[in-house]
Amino acid sequence: MATQKLVVKCNVCGTEFELPEDVMDGEITSCPTCGARYIVRIKGGAVSLEEFKGDVEDYGE
Ligand SMILES: [Zn+2]
Repeated sequence: MATQKLVVKCNVCGTEFELPEDVMDGEITSCPTCGARYIVRIKGGAVSLEEFKGDVEDYGE
């Protein structure tokens, strides 16, 4: 049984990068090239990226 690699593609710069095999649905990841943030979505063994519109850097005034 082959190990399944979780490779995703950045929507911003097109870089393909690999997620840790123990990545969880809803986890935040970022592109190693451009730093764009995504939410990891895992459904039925397929992994995809959802645009992250979070407020991690947006607190304060
Ligand atoms: Zn990118």
